[in-house]
Amino acid sequence: CGIVAYIGQREAYPIVLKGLKRLEYRGYDSAGVALVNGDLKVYKKKGKVAELEEFLSGKDVHSHIAIGHTRWATHGEPSDRNSHPHTSGNGKLAMIHNGIIENYAQLKQELIKKGHVFKSDTDTEVLLHFIEEIQESNKCGLEEALRIALKRVVGAYVIVLVDEDNPDTLIAARKGSPLVIGVGKGEHFLASDASPIVEYTKEVVYVNDYEIAVIKADELILKNISNERQTPYIQKLDIEL
Ligand code: GLU
Repeated sequence: CGIVAYIGQREAYPIVLKGLKRLEYRGYDSAGVALVNGDLKVYKKKGKVAELEEFLSGKDVHSHIAIGHTRWATHGEPSDRNSHPHTSGNGKLAMIHNGIIENYAQLKQELIKKGHVFKSDTDTEVLLHFIEEIQESNKCGLEEALRIALKRVVGAYVIVLVDEDNPDTLIAARKGSPLVIGVGKGEHFLASDASPIVEYTKEVVYVNDYEIAVIKADELILKNISNERQTPYIQKLDIEL
């Protein structure tokens, strides 16, 4: 399983697709991407990355922001419906996740009582709806809603979110699962390990547990769960492809 994301001046989809192929060695049962091209578009399929690519051939995939995922199912059978990215109830947010949300069943019951309707059987979709619920009930931004949500979440995760209303920003967080951010010139690359990133930049930041990253093409802000700014520690990769 793995995650890849891109934000910058280039076409995002080919970079994300290639990155997903580099992560195939980690094993997976489904793959998907989300991009913003006027509005949010999500494409996902059970099966190989090559099948997703085939499914997308001929479609308009123009975008400067994209997230991609390969899934190793833990909650919900491998299927198109359970593949990531998942979308929020209002259709504005898309999220990818590697890991497990252990207290998803309780959260799901609470959310169903509040009227949330789920389109998949995954723990991931529960976390996304939980974030959306906080955003709406607290009237706060996505970053703050995510921070509040993560304080209640038990489990392991690397997540990346895109918001149709803010197509110049990626928001990511991790606990327990790995997340590497490649720092380019006016662009950023996110991945589960450095292998999808090395061909573009050798400068990387390894995000720490309980950190939230707010990433624009030319800006990387890291914060801890208490909303305190952290200085990104940029390391130089000395690996070749
Ligand atoms: N728990 C999530 C699911 O089953 C993510 C699995 C993964 O790490 O790929 O959809």
